[in-house]
Amino acid sequence: MFKNPSPTLVSFITAISAAVVFVLFQFLYNRFSGDVYSVLHYAVDFFVLLIIAYLSAYFIVKHFVRRRIKLIYKSIAKQKLTSLEKNNPEIYSDNINKVEKLVEQWADQNNREIETLRELEEYRRNYIGNVSHELMTPIFNIQGYIYTLLDGAVNDEEKKFYYLKRAATNVDRLENIVSKLEIISKLESGHIVLNIEIFDIKELVNEVLHDNEMLALRKSIILSFKPGSDHSYLVKADRENIRIVLNNFIQNSIKYGHKTGKTSIGIYDMETNVLVEITDNGIGIPEEHIRHVFDRFYRVDKGRSRAEGGSGLGLSIVKHIIEAHHQTINVRSTPGVGSTFGFTLEKA
Ligand code: ADP
Repeated sequence: MFKNPSPTLVSFITAISAAVVFVLFQFLYNRFSGDVYSVLHYAVDFFVLLIIAYLSAYFIVKHFVRRRIKLIYKSIAKQKLTSLEKNNPEIYSDNINKVEKLVEQWADQNNREIETLRELEEYRRNYIGNVSHELMTPIFNIQGYIYTLLDGAVNDEEKKFYYLKRAATNVDRLENIVSKLEIISKLESGHIVLNIEIFDIKELVNEVLHDNEMLALRKSIILSFKPGSDHSYLVKADRENIRIVLNNFIQNSIKYGHKTGKTSIGIYDMETNVLVEITDNGIGIPEEHIRHVFDRFYRVDKGRSRAEGGSGLGLSIVKHIIEAHHQTINVRSTPGVGSTFGFTLEKA
């Protein structure tokens, strides 16, 4: 009753308090001044004041406080009070409850929105910082090589060829970063429409293994299927995007693999899905880095990644592609032992 008092109750309590205080003062004053009032006199004063105070308090509460509450209610609820609510005698207490709840919800929602905006702002700042940092390195390199050529190296056949080759490598790097960023932004904005088809996943893995044979040969790494896990399965997915996924995993296993190492691919039946796993016996990933490897621009060893022509964007693209298929992606890794990256696909 006292938690959400009605205007009548508020007015009544205010009036009683005012009348009691007034009569008490009157009594004390009379005692000092020597006037003597009868009990009836005090009672009449008390009731007259009670009525006046009650009417005034009721008027103020109903017309002033309630109007303001209605205004707050309306602006928060963003809706007009219905005529039913207008005629409801309990509207005052109802509105107090509603306003209290709405203000809480509104504050909660605002806090969440502010938090999200802060995160987005932080993300945007980091993103721009990362992009410019990534682009800066090849741009500086190209600038350096071109100025060295202009400063005279162009006249030396051997130097000319060396600097032009280095500049070309850095242009390729720039192109690689920008095209990956374009893919990411398309994936994030949902502009890439998956071209879902039914195909044999083993066949696609075979194609990707063949495409990467030369790369693996340079480090004498053997690419093969895991014995017993090389069955054919028809899956429902975007073939070309899954090719990007497989290429990324296999190329990473070579980039971060040891010379004369081994990368094996396993395809496993999981009832409604198929699990594809790419396992290497390379450098592995320390535990504290594992949960970040799918983050944009994240590299465990920046030096090694750059030396291998990495941009830290590959796994982020891979994750987007698998998530667009509503499938899962995971990684297990132990430094010095190797890594296993896996993803699922829907069986056809
Ligand atoms: P990058 O272009 O740097 O290779 P990725 O997004 O493909 O970027 O990978 C992110 C980071 O995860 C890499 O820089 C590397 O540190 C780590 N990583 C990815 N694959 C492997 C792997 N097979 N073995 C060890 N580390 C890996």
